[in-house]
Amino acid sequence: METGQTEISTLGEFGLIERLTKELPLKNTETKLGVGDDAAVLNFGEKDALVTTDLLLEGIHFDLRYVPLKHLGYKSAIVNFSDIYAMNGTPRQITVSIGVSSRFTVEHIEELYSGIRLACETYGVDLVGGDTSASVTGLVISITCIGDVEQGKAVTRSGAKPTDILCVSGDLGAAYMGLQLLERENRVSAGKKDFQPDFAGKEYILERQLKPEARKDIIEELHRNGITPTAMMDVSDGLSSELLHICKSSGVGCRVYEDRIPIDYQTALMAEEFNMNLVTAAMNGGEDYELLFTVPITDNEKVEKIKGVTMIGYVTKPELGCAMMTRDGAEIPVKAQGWNAFNNV
Ligand code: ADP
Ligand code: MG
Repeated sequence: METGQTEISTLGEFGLIERLTKELPLKNTETKLGVGDDAAVLNFGEKDALVTTDLLLEGIHFDLRYVPLKHLGYKSAIVNFSDIYAMNGTPRQITVSIGVSSRFTVEHIEELYSGIRLACETYGVDLVGGDTSASVTGLVISITCIGDVEQGKAVTRSGAKPTDILCVSGDLGAAYMGLQLLERENRVSAGKKDFQPDFAGKEYILERQLKPEARKDIIEELHRNGITPTAMMDVSDGLSSELLHICKSSGVGCRVYEDRIPIDYQTALMAEEFNMNLVTAAMNGGEDYELLFTVPITDNEKVEKIKGVTMIGYVTKPELGCAMMTRDGAEIPVKAQGWNAFNNV
Protein backbone atom coordinates (compact mmCIF):
# COMPACT_ATOMS: atom_id res chain seq x y z
CA MET A 1 0.00 0.00 0.00
CA GLU A 2 1.23 3.52 -0.85
CA THR A 3 2.15 5.56 2.21
CA GLY A 4 -0.58 7.72 3.71
CA GLN A 5 -3.28 5.53 2.17
CA THR A 6 -6.12 4.00 4.15
CA GLU A 7 -7.61 0.63 3.32
CA ILE A 8 -11.35 0.93 2.88
CA SER A 9 -11.93 -1.98 5.27
CA THR A 10 -10.60 0.14 8.14
CA LEU A 11 -13.55 2.52 7.73
CA GLY A 12 -16.17 0.07 6.50
CA GLU A 13 -19.08 1.03 4.27
CA PHE A 14 -20.70 3.49 6.66
CA GLY A 15 -17.44 5.12 7.63
CA LEU A 16 -16.61 5.60 3.95
CA ILE A 17 -20.05 7.07 3.20
CA GLU A 18 -19.61 9.46 6.11
CA ARG A 19 -16.23 10.58 4.79
CA LEU A 20 -17.58 11.05 1.27
CA THR A 21 -20.71 12.93 2.22
CA LYS A 22 -19.63 15.16 5.09
CA GLU A 23 -20.40 18.86 4.73
CA LEU A 24 -22.74 18.99 1.79
CA PRO A 25 -24.59 22.30 2.22
CA LEU A 26 -27.71 22.34 0.04
CA LYS A 27 -27.85 25.03 -2.66
CA ASN A 28 -31.25 24.55 -4.29
CA THR A 29 -34.60 25.34 -2.68
CA GLU A 30 -36.06 22.27 -4.42
CA THR A 31 -33.81 20.07 -2.28
CA LYS A 32 -35.76 19.55 0.94
CA LEU A 33 -33.62 16.73 2.30
CA GLY A 34 -30.23 15.46 1.12
CA VAL A 35 -27.89 12.65 2.16
CA GLY A 36 -28.45 10.72 5.39
CA ASP A 37 -31.90 9.18 5.23
CA ASP A 38 -33.52 6.39 3.21
CA ALA A 39 -34.33 8.82 0.40
CA ALA A 40 -33.79 12.44 -0.56
CA VAL A 41 -36.83 14.74 -0.67
CA LEU A 42 -37.27 17.07 -3.65
CA ASN A 43 -40.05 19.47 -4.55
CA PHE A 44 -40.42 21.01 -7.97
CA GLY A 45 -43.66 22.92 -7.46
CA GLU A 46 -45.00 23.97 -10.84
CA LYS A 47 -42.00 22.81 -12.85
CA ASP A 48 -41.40 19.63 -14.81
CA ALA A 49 -38.73 17.35 -13.39
CA LEU A 50 -36.04 15.79 -15.62
CA VAL A 51 -34.16 12.61 -14.72
CA THR A 52 -31.10 11.14 -16.42
CA THR A 53 -28.63 8.44 -15.45
CA ASP A 54 -25.23 7.21 -16.63
CA LEU A 55 -23.22 4.10 -15.85
CA LEU A 56 -19.43 4.14 -16.13
CA LEU A 57 -17.35 0.97 -15.90
CA GLU A 58 -13.59 0.80 -15.55
CA GLY A 59 -12.06 -0.73 -18.67
CA ILE A 60 -15.11 0.09 -20.78
CA HIS A 61 -15.68 3.82 -20.28
CA PHE A 62 -12.48 4.94 -18.63
CA ASP A 63 -8.88 3.84 -18.20
CA LEU A 64 -7.23 4.82 -14.93
CA ARG A 65 -3.75 4.47 -16.45
CA TYR A 66 -4.17 7.94 -17.89
CA VAL A 67 -7.28 9.42 -16.32
CA PRO A 68 -6.73 10.99 -12.88
CA LEU A 69 -9.50 10.11 -10.40
CA LYS A 70 -10.39 13.75 -9.76
CA HIS A 71 -10.92 14.34 -13.47
CA LEU A 72 -12.94 11.17 -13.72
CA GLY A 73 -15.23 12.39 -10.92
CA TYR A 74 -15.67 15.77 -12.55
CA LYS A 75 -16.42 14.29 -15.96
CA SER A 76 -18.84 11.67 -14.55
CA ALA A 77 -20.94 14.49 -13.12
CA ILE A 78 -20.61 16.79 -16.14
CA VAL A 79 -21.91 14.24 -18.64
CA ASN A 80 -25.12 14.06 -16.62
CA PHE A 81 -25.47 17.85 -16.36
CA SER A 82 -25.00 18.00 -20.12
CA ASP A 83 -27.99 15.67 -20.62
CA ILE A 84 -30.19 17.94 -18.49
CA TYR A 85 -29.08 21.09 -20.35
CA ALA A 86 -29.76 19.27 -23.61
CA MET A 87 -33.42 19.08 -22.51
CA ASN A 88 -33.37 22.87 -21.97
CA GLY A 89 -33.35 22.26 -18.22
CA THR A 90 -31.25 23.07 -15.15
CA PRO A 91 -29.51 20.28 -13.22
CA ARG A 92 -30.35 20.46 -9.50
CA GLN A 93 -29.44 17.22 -7.74
CA ILE A 94 -27.33 14.12 -8.30
CA THR A 95 -27.06 10.75 -6.62
CA VAL A 96 -23.77 8.90 -6.93
CA SER A 97 -23.46 5.14 -6.67
CA ILE A 98 -20.08 3.47 -6.62
CA GLY A 99 -18.72 -0.05 -6.70
CA VAL A 100 -15.13 -0.20 -5.45
CA SER A 101 -12.64 -3.07 -5.61
CA SER A 102 -9.97 -3.63 -2.95
CA ARG A 103 -7.34 -1.96 -5.17
CA PHE A 104 -8.77 1.40 -4.15
CA THR A 105 -8.08 3.18 -0.90
CA VAL A 106 -10.19 5.70 0.99
CA GLU A 107 -7.95 8.46 -0.38
CA HIS A 108 -8.53 7.31 -3.97
CA ILE A 109 -12.29 7.51 -3.55
CA GLU A 110 -11.97 10.88 -1.83
CA GLU A 111 -10.01 12.05 -4.85
CA LEU A 112 -12.85 10.89 -7.13
CA TYR A 113 -15.34 12.73 -4.91
CA SER A 114 -13.29 15.93 -4.94
CA GLY A 115 -13.93 16.03 -8.70
CA ILE A 116 -17.63 15.30 -8.26
CA ARG A 117 -17.90 17.99 -5.58
CA LEU A 118 -16.08 20.53 -7.76
CA ALA A 119 -18.51 19.87 -10.62
CA CYS A 120 -21.46 20.26 -8.23
CA GLU A 121 -20.09 23.55 -6.91
CA THR A 122 -19.38 24.91 -10.37
CA TYR A 123 -22.84 24.07 -11.69
CA GLY A 124 -24.85 24.72 -8.51
CA VAL A 125 -25.97 21.12 -8.06
CA ASP A 126 -26.70 19.30 -4.75
CA LEU A 127 -25.28 15.84 -4.08
CA VAL A 128 -28.25 14.22 -2.30
CA GLY A 129 -27.54 10.51 -2.07
CA GLY A 130 -26.10 7.38 -3.54
CA ASP A 131 -25.07 3.87 -2.77
CA THR A 132 -21.77 2.23 -1.94
CA SER A 133 -20.71 -1.33 -2.53
CA ALA A 134 -17.64 -3.51 -2.93
CA SER A 135 -16.88 -4.66 -6.47
CA VAL A 136 -14.88 -7.63 -7.75
CA THR A 137 -13.47 -6.18 -10.92
CA GLY A 138 -12.69 -2.52 -10.57
CA LEU A 139 -14.40 0.81 -10.25
CA VAL A 140 -18.05 1.34 -11.18
CA ILE A 141 -19.68 4.77 -11.08
CA SER A 142 -23.34 5.40 -11.68
CA ILE A 143 -24.68 8.93 -11.44
CA THR A 144 -28.31 9.96 -11.65
CA CYS A 145 -29.09 13.62 -12.19
CA ILE A 146 -32.38 15.36 -11.53
CA GLY A 147 -33.17 18.71 -13.07
CA ASP A 148 -36.08 20.99 -13.77
CA VAL A 149 -37.56 22.99 -16.60
CA GLU A 150 -40.56 25.35 -16.95
CA GLN A 151 -43.65 23.28 -17.44
CA GLY A 152 -43.94 22.15 -21.08
CA LYS A 153 -40.61 23.77 -22.05
CA ALA A 154 -38.48 20.63 -22.26
CA VAL A 155 -36.82 20.41 -25.69
CA THR A 156 -36.75 16.88 -27.07
CA ARG A 157 -35.08 15.36 -30.13
CA SER A 158 -38.32 15.14 -32.00
CA GLY A 159 -39.38 18.70 -32.84
CA ALA A 160 -37.17 19.57 -35.84
CA LYS A 161 -39.06 20.81 -38.93
CA PRO A 162 -37.98 21.12 -42.57
CA THR A 163 -36.33 24.53 -43.20
CA ASP A 164 -35.12 24.76 -39.55
CA ILE A 165 -31.46 25.70 -39.16
CA LEU A 166 -29.05 23.15 -37.67
CA CYS A 167 -26.67 24.60 -35.09
CA VAL A 168 -23.87 23.27 -32.93
CA SER A 169 -22.03 24.91 -30.04
CA GLY A 170 -18.24 25.02 -29.60
CA ASP A 171 -16.04 22.82 -31.71
CA LEU A 172 -15.92 19.10 -32.41
CA GLY A 173 -13.39 16.28 -32.43
CA ALA A 174 -11.02 17.73 -29.80
CA ALA A 175 -11.90 15.26 -27.03
CA TYR A 176 -11.35 12.39 -29.44
CA MET A 177 -7.94 13.66 -30.52
CA GLY A 178 -7.09 14.19 -26.83
CA LEU A 179 -7.90 10.54 -26.21
CA GLN A 180 -5.72 9.43 -29.15
CA LEU A 181 -2.85 11.43 -27.68
CA LEU A 182 -3.30 10.00 -24.17
CA GLU A 183 -3.46 6.47 -25.54
CA ARG A 184 -0.34 6.96 -27.61
CA GLU A 185 1.66 8.39 -24.71
CA ASN A 186 0.44 5.52 -22.57
CA ARG A 187 1.74 3.00 -25.14
CA VAL A 188 5.06 4.79 -25.51
CA SER A 189 5.58 5.03 -21.76
CA ALA A 190 4.71 1.40 -21.03
CA GLY A 191 7.41 -0.08 -18.82
CA LYS A 192 9.51 3.10 -18.86
CA LYS A 193 10.05 4.58 -15.44
CA ASP A 194 9.95 8.36 -15.08
CA PHE A 195 8.68 8.82 -18.62
CA GLN A 196 7.54 12.41 -19.11
CA PRO A 197 5.14 12.81 -22.02
CA ASP A 198 5.38 16.06 -23.91
CA PHE A 199 1.95 17.68 -23.94
CA ALA A 200 3.10 21.23 -24.77
CA GLY A 201 0.78 22.92 -27.25
CA LYS A 202 -1.80 20.18 -26.79
CA GLU A 203 -3.46 21.49 -23.64
CA TYR A 204 -6.77 22.22 -25.29
CA ILE A 205 -7.43 18.74 -26.68
CA LEU A 206 -6.33 17.16 -23.39
CA GLU A 207 -8.64 19.40 -21.42
CA ARG A 208 -11.50 18.56 -23.76
CA GLN A 209 -10.92 14.86 -23.06
CA LEU A 210 -10.10 15.02 -19.35
CA LYS A 211 -12.10 17.98 -18.09
CA PRO A 212 -15.05 18.68 -20.36
CA GLU A 213 -17.68 21.27 -19.45
CA ALA A 214 -21.45 21.16 -19.96
CA ARG A 215 -22.85 24.04 -22.05
CA LYS A 216 -24.85 25.81 -19.38
CA ASP A 217 -23.68 29.08 -20.94
CA ILE A 218 -25.27 28.27 -24.30
CA ILE A 219 -28.63 27.41 -22.71
CA GLU A 220 -28.51 30.73 -20.86
CA GLU A 221 -27.66 32.62 -24.06
CA LEU A 222 -30.53 30.98 -25.91
CA HIS A 223 -32.92 32.00 -23.10
CA ARG A 224 -31.56 35.53 -23.03
CA ASN A 225 -32.14 35.87 -26.76
CA GLY A 226 -35.63 34.44 -26.62
CA ILE A 227 -34.74 31.37 -28.67
CA THR A 228 -36.35 28.02 -27.94
CA PRO A 229 -34.82 25.28 -30.08
CA THR A 230 -37.29 23.01 -31.86
CA ALA A 231 -35.07 19.98 -31.12
CA MET A 232 -31.90 19.54 -29.12
CA MET A 233 -29.45 16.94 -27.80
CA ASP A 234 -25.88 16.85 -26.58
CA VAL A 235 -23.06 15.51 -28.73
CA SER A 236 -21.73 12.57 -26.74
CA ASP A 237 -21.36 9.84 -29.38
CA GLY A 238 -20.29 12.02 -32.32
CA LEU A 239 -22.09 14.48 -34.56
CA SER A 240 -23.01 11.88 -37.22
CA SER A 241 -24.75 9.66 -34.73
CA GLU A 242 -26.61 12.59 -33.11
CA LEU A 243 -27.74 14.00 -36.47
CA LEU A 244 -29.28 10.65 -37.28
CA HIS A 245 -31.03 10.57 -33.89
CA ILE A 246 -32.60 13.99 -34.41
CA CYS A 247 -33.61 13.14 -37.99
CA LYS A 248 -35.14 9.82 -36.98
CA SER A 249 -36.97 11.17 -33.92
CA SER A 250 -38.25 14.23 -35.79
CA GLY A 251 -39.06 12.38 -39.03
CA VAL A 252 -36.92 14.75 -41.13
CA GLY A 253 -33.73 14.78 -43.21
CA CYS A 254 -30.80 17.21 -43.10
CA ARG A 255 -27.92 18.75 -44.98
CA VAL A 256 -24.67 19.56 -43.20
CA TYR A 257 -21.86 21.53 -44.83
CA GLU A 258 -18.43 20.01 -44.38
CA ASP A 259 -16.73 23.39 -44.40
CA ARG A 260 -19.00 24.68 -41.61
CA ILE A 261 -18.11 22.02 -39.06
CA PRO A 262 -16.31 23.86 -36.24
CA ILE A 263 -12.87 22.41 -35.54
CA ASP A 264 -10.13 23.82 -33.32
CA TYR A 265 -6.60 24.33 -34.63
CA GLN A 266 -5.06 21.91 -32.09
CA THR A 267 -7.52 19.23 -33.18
CA ALA A 268 -6.48 19.72 -36.80
CA LEU A 269 -2.75 19.55 -35.98
CA MET A 270 -3.21 16.39 -33.95
CA ALA A 271 -5.25 14.71 -36.70
CA GLU A 272 -2.49 15.53 -39.16
CA GLU A 273 0.14 14.09 -36.83
CA PHE A 274 -1.90 10.89 -36.55
CA ASN A 275 -2.62 10.83 -40.27
CA MET A 276 -6.34 10.79 -39.59
CA ASN A 277 -9.08 12.33 -41.64
CA LEU A 278 -10.00 15.48 -39.75
CA VAL A 279 -13.65 15.64 -40.73
CA THR A 280 -14.15 11.97 -39.88
CA ALA A 281 -12.67 12.63 -36.42
CA ALA A 282 -14.90 15.65 -35.89
CA MET A 283 -18.04 13.88 -37.14
CA ASN A 284 -17.52 10.62 -35.27
CA GLY A 285 -15.16 11.28 -32.37
CA GLY A 286 -17.65 11.82 -29.61
CA GLU A 287 -17.37 13.05 -26.02
CA ASP A 288 -17.59 16.67 -27.15
CA TYR A 289 -20.56 17.46 -24.86
CA GLU A 290 -21.54 20.29 -27.15
CA LEU A 291 -25.18 21.03 -27.95
CA LEU A 292 -26.70 20.19 -31.31
CA PHE A 293 -29.99 21.98 -31.90
CA THR A 294 -32.41 23.22 -34.50
CA VAL A 295 -34.15 26.61 -34.61
CA PRO A 296 -36.79 28.03 -36.95
CA ILE A 297 -35.29 29.93 -39.87
CA THR A 298 -36.94 33.08 -38.49
CA ASP A 299 -34.46 32.94 -35.58
CA ASN A 300 -31.59 33.07 -38.06
CA GLU A 301 -30.34 36.52 -37.10
CA LYS A 302 -30.76 36.00 -33.38
CA VAL A 303 -28.80 32.78 -33.35
CA GLU A 304 -26.10 34.22 -35.59
CA LYS A 305 -25.25 36.72 -32.85
CA ILE A 306 -24.57 34.11 -30.18
CA LYS A 307 -20.86 33.59 -29.70
CA GLY A 308 -19.76 29.98 -29.85
CA VAL A 309 -22.67 28.77 -31.96
CA THR A 310 -22.17 27.70 -35.58
CA MET A 311 -24.89 27.11 -38.15
CA ILE A 312 -23.79 23.92 -39.84
CA GLY A 313 -26.72 23.17 -42.12
CA TYR A 314 -30.48 22.88 -42.33
CA VAL A 315 -33.35 20.45 -41.87
CA THR A 316 -35.05 18.95 -44.92
CA LYS A 317 -38.00 16.75 -45.76
CA PRO A 318 -37.42 13.12 -44.74
CA GLU A 319 -37.17 11.88 -48.37
CA LEU A 320 -33.88 13.73 -48.79
CA GLY A 321 -32.15 11.73 -46.06
CA CYS A 322 -29.28 12.85 -43.92
CA ALA A 323 -26.24 13.98 -45.92
CA MET A 324 -23.07 16.02 -45.82
CA MET A 325 -22.19 18.47 -48.59
CA THR A 326 -18.44 18.18 -49.10
CA ARG A 327 -16.09 21.03 -50.03
CA ASP A 328 -16.08 19.90 -53.66
CA GLY A 329 -19.87 19.83 -53.86
CA ALA A 330 -20.47 16.10 -53.45
CA GLU A 331 -23.29 14.84 -51.29
CA ILE A 332 -22.39 11.92 -49.03
CA PRO A 333 -24.81 10.14 -46.68
CA VAL A 334 -24.19 10.62 -42.96
CA LYS A 335 -23.46 7.29 -41.28
CA ALA A 336 -23.20 6.61 -37.58
CA GLN A 337 -19.73 5.43 -36.66
CA GLY A 338 -19.84 6.90 -33.19
CA TRP A 339 -18.46 5.28 -30.14
CA ASN A 340 -20.39 2.24 -29.01
CA ALA A 341 -19.56 0.43 -25.75
CA PHE A 342 -20.52 -2.92 -27.26
CA ASN A 343 -17.91 -2.59 -30.02
CA ASN A 344 -15.09 -2.09 -27.61
CA VAL A 345 -15.13 -5.31 -25.61
P1 ADP B 1 -29.48 2.36 2.42
O1 ADP B 1 -29.35 1.29 3.41
O2 ADP B 1 -30.80 3.04 2.40
O3 ADP B 1 -28.97 1.97 1.04
P2 ADP B 1 -26.93 3.60 2.87
O4 ADP B 1 -26.36 3.22 4.19
O5 ADP B 1 -26.41 2.94 1.64
O6 ADP B 1 -28.50 3.51 2.95
O7 ADP B 1 -26.75 5.16 2.66
C1 ADP B 1 -26.94 6.08 3.73
C2 ADP B 1 -27.08 7.45 3.14
O8 ADP B 1 -25.89 7.82 2.46
C3 ADP B 1 -28.22 7.57 2.12
O9 ADP B 1 -28.76 8.86 2.26
C4 ADP B 1 -27.51 7.44 0.80
O10 ADP B 1 -28.21 8.13 -0.23
C5 ADP B 1 -26.16 8.08 1.10
N1 ADP B 1 -25.06 7.47 0.32
C6 ADP B 1 -24.66 6.18 0.31
N2 ADP B 1 -23.61 5.99 -0.49
C7 ADP B 1 -23.33 7.20 -1.04
C8 ADP B 1 -22.36 7.66 -1.98
N3 ADP B 1 -21.45 6.85 -2.55
N4 ADP B 1 -22.38 8.97 -2.33
C9 ADP B 1 -23.29 9.79 -1.81
N5 ADP B 1 -24.22 9.43 -0.90
C10 ADP B 1 -24.25 8.14 -0.53
MG1 MG C 1 -27.09 1.60 0.41
